Amino acid sequence: MRLTEHEGKALLRRHGIAVPHGSLISATDPAPDWPGTGVAKAQVLEGGRGKRGLVRVFGAGDCADAVAAVRASGAGHVPLLIEEALPIQREIYLSLRVDGTAQTIALLASAEGGVEIEQGPPPLAIGFSTRDPHAASVILAGLRQGFPTDLAVKIARLVRRLATVMIAEDLELLEINPLALLPDGRLVAADARIMRDDAAGLRHDAADTATSVVLEAAARTPLEQRAAAMGFSFVELAGGSVALVSAGAGLGMMLVDLLADAGAPAACFMDNAHGGPAETSAERLAIAYELAARPEVRAILFCTVLASRPLRGRVDALAEALRLSPPPKPLVVAIAAGHTALAGYSMAEAAARLAAVGVVALHDDPVAAVAAVARLAA
Ligand code: GDP
Ligand code: MN
Repeated sequence: MRLTEHEGKALLRRHGIAVPHGSLISATDPAPDWPGTGVAKAQVLEGGRGKRGLVRVFGAGDCADAVAAVRASGAGHVPLLIEEALPIQREIYLSLRVDGTAQTIALLASAEGGVEIEQGPPPLAIGFSTRDPHAASVILAGLRQGFPTDLAVKIARLVRRLATVMIAEDLELLEINPLALLPDGRLVAADARIMRDDAAGLRHDAADTATSVVLEAAARTPLEQRAAAMGFSFVELAGGSVALVSAGAGLGMMLVDLLADAGAPAACFMDNAHGGPAETSAERLAIAYELAARPEVRAILFCTVLASRPLRGRVDALAEALRLSPPPKPLVVAIAAGHTALAGYSMAEAAARLAAVGVVALHDDPVAAVAAVARLAA
């Protein structure tokens, strides 16, 4: 789950991390009677607000104008955070992400943060484990490559505290951009982009993230809402021409990249959240059909990997589903099957079975399947 900036900052504040003083107003509240300078910030979940006029720094007496301007920039329907304006001396970029493969926290840090972070030099990348007794020196040594020592020491101390916050709060991502360095030397989190592991939601007070839940649901397309209700992850990708049916985040990401390289971009990404064999395959196919009914989507690619589950059962289930409900666009199937899966049933038999229900081609190699589907979608 993605947290709004306001709920993310409240989380940081509960753990003693410095954030600006501020208050939230609803979409219908009038601008507050704000003393002095401030910042008005739209609580949308997407980033890049600064460039879209959704963050406005205002002078004394100008709060109402700033609130009106932010609302007029397309944020009329969301709450606004009104904060004290910080005298930012330097904008630092910090991001901590769980690296599930390395079982570490991947830290990115840059002395040139802010809204142009993507244009600047690549950030320092430092991996560390909170279980490593030498984590403190690993972090400090890394940060000293890009920051003066006194600042590196301060940031390193903050990073270690943020790492404990990540564990306590089950966060997958904790990004602070900008981390504001103030003239008195304090570091204050001027922004917070936080993602919590959905599977850990039950461990935390739902009241703390009520706005985030509403905004996240509102940001979903109708198809994405239905997929979420059916229990799998599904993201529509704008401009795609291939409805992609896959399961497993790694395979899905790889196919999305391969399709883009082949000139036939995917119209969606999906992942069976439970990782089970057939749990949502009928539902995923149904959603893909709806996507494929759109004129710009010209073909369907169904791809799966079988290690030990028998190929025959998988093919029978798919063929039966296709017989009952023929695909609205040409369908290419890729099944990468291991030796155990192939026992007693060959790819040739599978190809014949699927051809009988209208499948254009069956490949055992996802790369070849991508090439085939790209020709159909051209
Ligand atoms: P984002 O663009 O969605 O990441 O929104 P941010 O919260 O990061 O705000 C965008 C930019 O507004 C920041 O990079 C700062 O340059 C500026 N900004 C935000 N808060 C303050 C503040 O308190 N004081 C000043 N001077 N600038 C701010
Ligand atoms: Mn930011």
